[in-house]
Amino acid sequence: MNIFDAHCDVLMKMYIDPDISFLDSDKLHITKQGLLEEGGKVQCFAIYIPEKVHPDMRFQAALAMVDIFHEKILSEPEMKFIKTKADIDSLKEREIGALLTLEGCDCIGNDLLKLKTLLHLGVSSVGLTWNYANLVADGALESRGGGLTQFGTEVVNLLNEKSIWCDLSHLSEAGFWDTIKRAEFPIASHSNAHHLCSHPRNLKDSQIKALLQKNGVIGVTFVPQFLSNRDSSSIKDILKHIDHICSLGGERQIGLGSDFDGIEHMVENLTSYKDYHNFINELNRLYSSEFVKGLLFGNFTRNFPVKKERF
Ligand SMILES: [Zn+2]
Repeated sequence: MNIFDAHCDVLMKMYIDPDISFLDSDKLHITKQGLLEEGGKVQCFAIYIPEKVHPDMRFQAALAMVDIFHEKILSEPEMKFIKTKADIDSLKEREIGALLTLEGCDCIGNDLLKLKTLLHLGVSSVGLTWNYANLVADGALESRGGGLTQFGTEVVNLLNEKSIWCDLSHLSEAGFWDTIKRAEFPIASHSNAHHLCSHPRNLKDSQIKALLQKNGVIGVTFVPQFLSNRDSSSIKDILKHIDHICSLGGERQIGLGSDFDGIEHMVENLTSYKDYHNFINELNRLYSSEFVKGLLFGNFTRNFPVKKERF
């Protein structure tokens, strides 16, 4: 069973600790070994710059993570850099696609050229914020709850022009509504349903419906705090979010964004990528194989923007 996982923070961990090996480090939730064992076919690797990095050094840190992506992940013979939909379609057996994404635009400051540079380097999906405010928009935990800025509008326009996914996960509610109006390729790479778990990082039903209406995909995430209001979460809780999103019409617009390596607490029996089969077994028991294939792989893959023709 092929898996497309729309979000992980492996690059952040490898940036913080240069000794970590992508091959099979026990410090990582996602390793090459885990991907090969579980059917990992496309993995998104987020550039997420730790909060402690000084604002003046954040773009430098982003470039350092691009370097880690090339030197330590793409250097593995099975790993292939995914920049277009055709790259996914042409993956051979035992090849794993690696997709570069940006989580939060704080590293570009107010400089569109920095964002364009990251796109030239192969970033395929851009999350506008992390949890707090930056010059593009406010994040979900920013108490003033502002929306998209003037500069943020320019960022979304650039993503539209370049046919790049605009990732709405982490945005404030006002930021979400400002962005969904403008974004041509919106997704939510790692967000769950607010209806089931009232965390500000989750999306309300009206937001999920708006995303579905704009042909976006939502990646259900394995973050225990976004799955239930209890202290711990189980695979059953993930299934509840899947069912809820489907009840809103998302059967073919739902995928997965694990957030592995970005989380300290894990779902029971889903503590790393190597546990994916526990989750897939449950899916196969309860849903049609067509639905499971779409959820695990097909829905995000089908949604990958095809670059506009140049005239
Ligand atoms: Zn995140």
